[in-house]
Amino acid sequence: MTARVRTMSLDQQITSEPALARLVAEAEIGAAPPDDDVPLYAPRRKIYPQSVRGTFRNVKWAVLVVTLAIYYLLPFVRWDRGPNAPSQAVLIDFPNRRFYFFSIEIWPQEVYYLTGLLILAAIVLFLMNAVAGRVWCGYLCPQTVWTDLFFAIERLVEGDRREHMQRDSRNWTVETYVRKGIKHSLWLFVAWWTGGAWVLYFADAPTLVKELATGTAPFIAYAWIGILTVTTYFLAGHMREQVCLYMCPWPRIQAALTDEFALNVTYRYDRGEPRCSAKKAEQLRAHGQPAGDCVDCLQCVHVCPTGVDIRGGANLGCIQCGLCIDACDAIMNKLGRATGLIAYDTDLNIKERLEGKQPFYKPVRLRTVLYAAIIAVVGGVMLYTLATRDSEGMSVIHDRNPMYVRLSDGSLRNGYTIRIVNKQLKYRDFIISVDGLPSTLIDFVGLPPRADGRQLVTVGPDQTKEVRLVVTDYSTTPPAASTSILFKLIDIDSGQTAEVRDHFFGPGQ
Ligand code: SF4
Ligand code: SF4
Repeated sequence: MTARVRTMSLDQQITSEPALARLVAEAEIGAAPPDDDVPLYAPRRKIYPQSVRGTFRNVKWAVLVVTLAIYYLLPFVRWDRGPNAPSQAVLIDFPNRRFYFFSIEIWPQEVYYLTGLLILAAIVLFLMNAVAGRVWCGYLCPQTVWTDLFFAIERLVEGDRREHMQRDSRNWTVETYVRKGIKHSLWLFVAWWTGGAWVLYFADAPTLVKELATGTAPFIAYAWIGILTVTTYFLAGHMREQVCLYMCPWPRIQAALTDEFALNVTYRYDRGEPRCSAKKAEQLRAHGQPAGDCVDCLQCVHVCPTGVDIRGGANLGCIQCGLCIDACDAIMNKLGRATGLIAYDTDLNIKERLEGKQPFYKPVRLRTVLYAAIIAVVGGVMLYTLATRDSEGMSVIHDRNPMYVRLSDGSLRNGYTIRIVNKQLKYRDFIISVDGLPSTLIDFVGLPPRADGRQLVTVGPDQTKEVRLVVTDYSTTPPAASTSILFKLIDIDSGQTAEVRDHFFGPGQ
């Protein structure tokens, strides 16, 4: 047992229940000598995950295909927004400071939608975790998806687990070098493609592809492709499970968020123990002795992408991908035994079964209801504000110096800088009125009145416009030191309005 524990990583040591129990027992009874001979750092064991077939593997393939197809192809999806807007469905347009997502267009001042989206993403993650553990890690996390793809390439070129291990343990031949060269070239190609797809979200994809191919794209595009090529190659090709074990904070957060009712990939030791070969199990059972269903074939360990032996109990290294379930089910099928020796289950249910009670599942409980309610509220508020948001807006900044000017006829004048926002994809004419003063005249600086005498501000499609405005108060009664006034922006065609409150300053009584 000691030797086995010493080969485990630190996380595995502290999260594997048997290992934890041993450490606690040793500490309590002083049975073990001081651990001077136990290295503090566990060297990395290279993992050669074996291919496996089954339900969870199929689900993972499907998720991999769908998520990668979305990632690589989405920049090429077109979305007609009219003649004055980009036609890319998903576009982060930094030069014009816009984010386009199909029919939704987010302006910089609406960045709170991003905050709402991040809150939603976090709560959805919490909900997944409360229902079925690390579903995100096992199926949807980009590190998992790309590592899975890199594993598939590795098996294709270097063979499955046994063949790959044998070739690595022998003296390397020309064939070994050639295979490894092909594998790394394919990895680099996928990594480069990944970086290439990333930059397409920041510019018109077909145009940028042409520019990249002809060497006329901006330098920043090549730089980002280079950075993402290198990071994808190292993270998915070389670091693999190390990212999950040591770099990612989510396993630690997840461990703090989970409860005893969350389903996790669980070895049902109530059914599996004591482990013994199929033949020995038959003999033991024939003599009325207990024998578990686990035949200690280690298939569940060999298929694990993080090298975990789930039979040791809950483990931070387990990303809950379910591949060990497929591996064990295949063995059980071969032996003619019931599947499900490893399954999505809870330790609580194992204890229930050991006590002769019925297992139970509680997907609906206080925390899942709470998470679902928060998702519904945040999502609902976001949808409502998106559906009802104004297509015009205005900001007003009062001049700081001077705060007011007294004209030769005794009237008072205040200056303002107005920024008008037009979120529609067409030209719009606006007028501005001011309420709150008894006798006022407003004048846009440098804007000649039209034939009808009105001063209209024309704002281009999907644009903002800044104008200078002076407000003059002709009333004979001098205004107070500060008077609240209301600016009204009116679209003269549609009548849509936006209102902003500010102040008119004077010398006071
Ligand atoms: S695959 Fe199943 S039978 Fe084989 S060692 Fe793992 S739990 Fe035991
Ligand atoms: S122990 Fe099983 S579920 Fe966990 S990472 Fe390994 S194969 Fe996936």
